[in-house]
Amino acid sequence: MLVVMKSGATEKEIKRVLKKIESFGFCAEISNDANCTSIDIIDGDGSVSAAIFENLAGVAETVYTTKTYKLASNDSMQKKSVVKVGAAEIGGKDLTIIGGVCAVESREQVFAVAEVVKKSGAQLFRGGAFKPRTSPYGFQGLGEEGLQILAEVRARFGLHIVTEAMDNEQVDLVEKYADMIQIGTRNMQNFSLLKRVGKSHLSVLLKRGMSATLEEFLLAAEYIIAEGNRNVVLCERGIRTFATHARNTLDLSIVPAVQKVSYLPIIVDPSHGTGKNYMVTALARASVAVGADGLLIEIHPSPDSALSDGAQALLPEQYLEMIEQIKAIHKVLSPIQV
Ligand code: PEP
Ligand code: MN
Repeated sequence: MLVVMKSGATEKEIKRVLKKIESFGFCAEISNDANCTSIDIIDGDGSVSAAIFENLAGVAETVYTTKTYKLASNDSMQKKSVVKVGAAEIGGKDLTIIGGVCAVESREQVFAVAEVVKKSGAQLFRGGAFKPRTSPYGFQGLGEEGLQILAEVRARFGLHIVTEAMDNEQVDLVEKYADMIQIGTRNMQNFSLLKRVGKSHLSVLLKRGMSATLEEFLLAAEYIIAEGNRNVVLCERGIRTFATHARNTLDLSIVPAVQKVSYLPIIVDPSHGTGKNYMVTALARASVAVGADGLLIEIHPSPDSALSDGAQALLPEQYLEMIEQIKAIHKVLSPIQV
């Protein structure tokens, strides 16, 4: 942390700050720049609190220079991680597609979509058995029966299963049937759930909270990693803004922002990020262009009768067309991807 002194700060005021730093057992490094003095606190574990210095006479401001997240930061791991989900990988040189349904509604619906996902060459299938619905009257998912259908998809198509858990009991069930646990946007700061999945042997797909900053997003990942599970994949799924033309505002700038400070892979979900069928393919193309490690896409054989998120579901043929387009974009960009 850096303590920046006011331009007219006296020797006495500077000494007082230095004494305070010493009293905590930390070292200080002073630098004089133009007409202002800054004091860098060398604090190994970053535990020093700004509040201690902010109110001292002569102090202009305190600035955190080390990141609040440690284990999710590329200070802790320089090489970008490649997260394994069964035989599939996220974060490697290939683009990873997670195709599937919003909610598992029936065996027929899920199998119809799984067939298309398999045909597209994707290795991961996602479907919700436990659905976080805004209204308690909305379809809540088939629960364990839905997980059993997903396990059938794995057996029949060889696809690896990604599915959401909203509480610790659901994590126990998801661990029994699936390969990757999704933490939804509404639970990004459900800290006891994050700690629980941090103890899981499964990898975790962590969706960005709909109002989360980059720091909050990475601190949520930090909760999981701190429990021992480094197999975390981040997912941008749109944030709440004043815009009304789309369900959410897909914040693609988070992709390079994450890549600058963290080794964790990040994928993009243009389905929830737009909420509109006609926007999904365009934003999928943009997500690949911006450097995302993969995409999460919702598909439905008859979106008009979907029990959840029908408006954003791609038809099977639209999904296959989108895959062709993004493959072409990825091919063009792969020589320049870092
Ligand atoms: C979903 O993936 O179907 C879902 C509910 O996502 P989110 O948590 O991003 O809203
Ligand atoms: Mn959905």
